[in-house]
Amino acid sequence: MCKRWCFTCEMLGRARTGFVLLTATTLVFCYFLLRHTQVLHVQHKRWHSRERMRCVHSGTSNNTKLGTTMETSRGTGHCRTDCDIFVGERPPCITRNISSTGPWCHEMRRKRGNTKVKVNLDSRSMEMLEKLHGADLEPGGLFRPTECTSSQRVAVIVPFRERSLHLKIFLNNIHPFLKKQRVEYMILVVEQAPGSRLNRGMLRNIGVVEGEKLCKFDCYFFHDIDMIPLSERNLYTCGSKPRHHAAALARWNYALPYEHIFGGVVSFKTDLFKKINGYSNMYFGWGGEDDDLYNRVKHHNMDIERYPMKISGYGDLKHRKSEAQNARYSYLKTWKARVEVDGLNSLKYHRYLVEFRRLYTWIYVGIKEPEVLGSYLKK
Ligand code: UDP
Ligand code: MN
Repeated sequence: MCKRWCFTCEMLGRARTGFVLLTATTLVFCYFLLRHTQVLHVQHKRWHSRERMRCVHSGTSNNTKLGTTMETSRGTGHCRTDCDIFVGERPPCITRNISSTGPWCHEMRRKRGNTKVKVNLDSRSMEMLEKLHGADLEPGGLFRPTECTSSQRVAVIVPFRERSLHLKIFLNNIHPFLKKQRVEYMILVVEQAPGSRLNRGMLRNIGVVEGEKLCKFDCYFFHDIDMIPLSERNLYTCGSKPRHHAAALARWNYALPYEHIFGGVVSFKTDLFKKINGYSNMYFGWGGEDDDLYNRVKHHNMDIERYPMKISGYGDLKHRKSEAQNARYSYLKTWKARVEVDGLNSLKYHRYLVEFRRLYTWIYVGIKEPEVLGSYLKK
């Protein structure tokens, strides 16, 4: 009896010790686990804010004060991650509803005659241009007519890289041209950071996605920086069909090189552009993305329209010919298979900075060619 009792006691004693040991180990383990995740969290937060500061201090925004509209000068570096930074006072359009009172601006435009635009090719500093055109603009290059109500809110999206002289000439001409039309508009310059070949289609898609975060635009213009409109009757509002504006150029002897050409300056109502899933993101280097876009338009049973040739004239600024890409021929053969999966709905980019400058909103992004192409070629 005693023997049996002692045996049971011993077993119970051992079980108790085991239980205590197990609990203690679990507690210690949990303690270290918690500490470790907290440390990681703190470290991650520190790393993130360091990266944010890199955005502000490196390349893109030297001398920038957050929360002001001070113009910044650019350096050479750029951030390596999504910095999620907005610089400058935000444009007020996001909170505003277009009211149905007051005369509509298009009624007022109709009263104006047919006049040629005087192109100004003078080289002016950005400070001078801001003085000339900035007084009646809201931050980010937003213009709102005061004496009438614009029927559409228009975003003019300009793909950009290393064409600063063209940018100044473009701004010097486009602001007076658009203000005269009494249209509510905003200029969005989407710049691609160095590292990959320029992807014009993708920059335009990014302009739409980032633009949507700022204002509810009814109409998008995709505008080459080197195109200056020559007729005041070339209205910068959207029609019921996608429109090709830059049809009459001196370099083509004022005739279309081929019927379905659809580049330079085109416009889309927002819903139409979304319906076709925007531009393809595959075209790195020069050429192809505008023909692909035309295919998408036709695929969705839409037609394009143009103003008469005497209204569709543009002055095109001179530049070195961009390097063409040969892959465009094969992409143009397979465009149909990608319409639904390659475009606005599958953008892969890194937003480094959005800055509301006096004459335009500057959206600075990184695009990594292998990351973008890899995601489509895998499929
Ligand atoms: N672009 C740019 N930097 C470049 C090349 C192109 O900013 O190095 C932009 C710019 O808006 C330009 C547009 O992409 O107007 C179309 O490219 P490009 O002028 O080379 O085309 P092309 O005149 O040959 O049709
Ligand atoms: Mn050009």
